Amino acid sequence: MKYPIDNSRNVWQNIARSVTKTDSTKRRGRGAAWLARRSVTPVAASSNLVVPANKRDLNGPVFLYDSNEFNGQTRKSKGVDVMRVELYNWRYESLAEQLSKEMKKRYFDVFIARSKEELLETVKSIIPEGASVSNGGSLTLAETGVLNLLRSGNYVYYDRASAQTIQERKEIELKSFTVDYYLSSANAITNDGKLVFLDGNGNRVAAVLYGPRNVVIIASVNKVVEDVENARRRLQFISPMNSKRLNLETPCIKTGYCVDCSNKQRICNYFVVVETSARQPGRIKVVLTTFESGL
Ligand code: SF4
Repeated sequence: MKYPIDNSRNVWQNIARSVTKTDSTKRRGRGAAWLARRSVTPVAASSNLVVPANKRDLNGPVFLYDSNEFNGQTRKSKGVDVMRVELYNWRYESLAEQLSKEMKKRYFDVFIARSKEELLETVKSIIPEGASVSNGGSLTLAETGVLNLLRSGNYVYYDRASAQTIQERKEIELKSFTVDYYLSSANAITNDGKLVFLDGNGNRVAAVLYGPRNVVIIASVNKVVEDVENARRRLQFISPMNSKRLNLETPCIKTGYCVDCSNKQRICNYFVVVETSARQPGRIKVVLTTFESGL
């Protein structure tokens, strides 16, 4: 079984669970061992737990301290959830800034959006009104409101979802190759700025690679992985969820993990890595969001 590369959330959850146990004999698992190595006395989880900025360890799971323990600090009710949000915000901001530099070297135009509102304004600034647009299937585009923007009437939108028949859908997908702007998400992004996709039908990756005059990729930095190999592992992790979301009958919707099936409904058929846009600089525009979206 493959695991996602970024499992830090699970680690933190384990830590939080373990520190709620007052009986030291019950302290087992990774969280307790991690705390023990650092000679930190866990305290019971409560709403007044805070992590003073100078006591945070940004490279590992988070210590929990009583709010009165350090210098009489009076930061109130700064619980684990707030702390987690702050740390992820910090991580995502840092990632976006660094990635932006890496992706520009690969001839992608890069934008950073820190909220859904900012994302929509960015998309509006990229795509002029009246332009022809289309998109690949994407949870990100739906949940961020970008699909609604495309349907606003300000664009000539080739909308696959409006198709009444399979044939009609196919026609719209073919027209998508000629649009001014094709929108999609990516399934993973490597630390050094490569875009990674996994398609069932291939229409989306085909349009990203060739056809539309411009491609707009909208992806959260929660999809960033170390390298292409880890992108493959990430995709093995999320694909069963996509199968479930699409109501398919692949074996992974029973197991919850990938079994590298030969099912005819398999969605993992075209694994594509876009290394650069060197032949057409700026054709691919990437909007990195520092908030989470998609799977
Ligand atoms: S569809 Fe098949 S290959 Fe894809 S995740 Fe499920 S089991 Fe694995």
